[in-house]
Amino acid sequence: MTNKKNIADQATNDFDAVVVGAGFAGLYMLHLLRDKLGLHATAIEAGGGVGGTWYWNRYPGARCDIPSMDYSYSFSDELQQEWEWSEKYASQPEILAYLEFVAKKFDLNKDIRFSTRVIGADYNETDHRWHLSTDDGKALTARFLISGVGALSTAAVPDIEGIDSFEGQSLNTSSWPGEGADLAGKRVGIIGTGATAVQVIPIVAEEAAHLTVFQRTPPFAAPLLNRPLGREEQNEIKARYKQIREDSWNAFAGVPFYNVRPSAIADTPEQRREHYEDCWNEGGFSLWLGSYEDLLLDKAANDTAGAFVREKIREQVKDPEVAAKLVPAPELNYGTKRQPCETGYYEAYNRDNVTLIDLKADPIQEITPAGIRTKSATHQLDVIIYATGFDAFTGSLYRMNIRGREGKRLQDHWSAGPRTHLGLMTAGFPNFFTVTGPLSPSVLFNMPLSIEQHCEWIADCIAYLREHHLDTIETMREAEDKWITHVKEVADSTLLPAAESWYLGANIKGKPRVFMVYLGGGKLYKEICEDVVAKGYEGFTLTATSQTRAQ
Ligand code: FAD
Ligand code: NAP
Repeated sequence: MTNKKNIADQATNDFDAVVVGAGFAGLYMLHLLRDKLGLHATAIEAGGGVGGTWYWNRYPGARCDIPSMDYSYSFSDELQQEWEWSEKYASQPEILAYLEFVAKKFDLNKDIRFSTRVIGADYNETDHRWHLSTDDGKALTARFLISGVGALSTAAVPDIEGIDSFEGQSLNTSSWPGEGADLAGKRVGIIGTGATAVQVIPIVAEEAAHLTVFQRTPPFAAPLLNRPLGREEQNEIKARYKQIREDSWNAFAGVPFYNVRPSAIADTPEQRREHYEDCWNEGGFSLWLGSYEDLLLDKAANDTAGAFVREKIREQVKDPEVAAKLVPAPELNYGTKRQPCETGYYEAYNRDNVTLIDLKADPIQEITPAGIRTKSATHQLDVIIYATGFDAFTGSLYRMNIRGREGKRLQDHWSAGPRTHLGLMTAGFPNFFTVTGPLSPSVLFNMPLSIEQHCEWIADCIAYLREHHLDTIETMREAEDKWITHVKEVADSTLLPAAESWYLGANIKGKPRVFMVYLGGGKLYKEICEDVVAKGYEGFTLTATSQTRAQ
């Protein structure tokens, strides 16, 4: 902890706090630690610049699916008044420019080590510090280790025979080349039809000579309906920002919808149809999160929305055989995987240069030097795009090789699935915090807001320790158990755990099936976090080490 005695350390590699990552989480965390608490803090970022998700995912069509005015920091009114968004849903370059602007405005870059990866983090029980190693051979220590590594920052690379033999160009959407990829006139194959692929496919279809889409599970995609954001509309939102942010916290997923009706079943078929049409025409997540409260809770309610979207898909695709392949199977409930938002996705399948391969009927056998061989055919390709998702939540944490008390590895403590209290801390790993860690609302909430709430909780916690001459905090195993049970109970009261989704780790071979997101809603979650603090950090052990006691 910084005190006068520690000031001499400031030119060294001994820090009060080290933050890993410089996306939305890392940037705000660093700002709070350094500028609010006055700590000697640094951030370490594997990428060559700030931005996280928006630094890496430069694929054509990448943009947010929550309106930019909501998908942005709220902590500084000056910032939110100053920044101008050009579209309702900003594109990747614009979100990256925004985060670069934030880093510059708050003078953060000087305390970030770029192009540096944390490859080891060991808790030392003698000096009560984290000892970190980085891939440039450096060693650092810190009293507090804060992970801002992101829930979606380690790619899930498919385990397909012959994958390395392909002699054309292989691209992964989550590490798309900064200079772009020239696909004009090429035969391109894309594996995956999740939210990422849904954004890429229509754009690549226009550029490539031919695009072959390899689909395993068809999604339920709804129109994004992006549009320019006029100055007047933006100013009107800015004038009401305080209220809008409050409304966001009161909304289940951190985005305000003002016309959510209680039950799809309680409405008549005519009322329901009209409401679904209105939501569909509003675009984005309006149907998914803004239509009915029981859509993700009640199978009968869900079926009504599922039928509506299936019908919309059929209407958009001219060839009924192609349409049939694009319609999700009856056993998949609508919205139990994240609903992709589309712009020209279904229309792309009406083009002559786009072919859809249904991998359920015609599975991939191998990747060859010349392309992809499925059971029934060989597809000659110049480029393969992998839009195959992420090893969500745990991928980047495990790659850091974190060891807590008695040298226990995080992946061993979490061998049956992530164990956290509130998604913030894990037992046996003192002073280690995870921003939007597993078992917090995280990816099923408007992420900049959930990130802010976590960063502020962590900063307040560190300030509390300092004020009370304490220097370690660690969650108790019983609190962890209780929280895990609660998260599971809430998830099991919804339809979401029934889907084979990355929320459950189902996309990664051998990953324990644990629903990793807290579904109690942001408002309740925030209240629980505040209550824990009000009760003197209930469920956590706070201690003074002998070094502190001696001062
Ligand atoms: P990230 O932005 O992922 O940043 C983590 C950083 O940590 C990365 O830059 C990474 O390089 C770095 N890092 C990881 N491990 C190490 C290490 N060992 N050493 C050093 N550095 C390391 N969420 C929404 O709410 N709305 C959206 O519309 C939305 N759109 C998305 C679109 C895409 C394509 C993707 C992939 C995700 C989207 N998300 C969206 C989720 C998105 O990840 C979050 O909104 C947010 O950007 C996460 O910020 P973060 O700082 O927590 O993590
Ligand atoms: P994803 O949702 O996990 O989709 C991955 C796709 O690849 C799925 O269609 C999956 O099929 C397929 N796939 C994986 N391995 C495969 C294999 N071996 N063979 C064939 N197909 C395979 O990943 P994502 O699309 O990158 O999206 C992840 C998350 O990032 C989203 O849910 C969202 O939270 C965020 N995101 C948001 C936006 C946005 O609009 N703002 C855009 C992109 C991403 P199965 O379904 O059968 O597994």
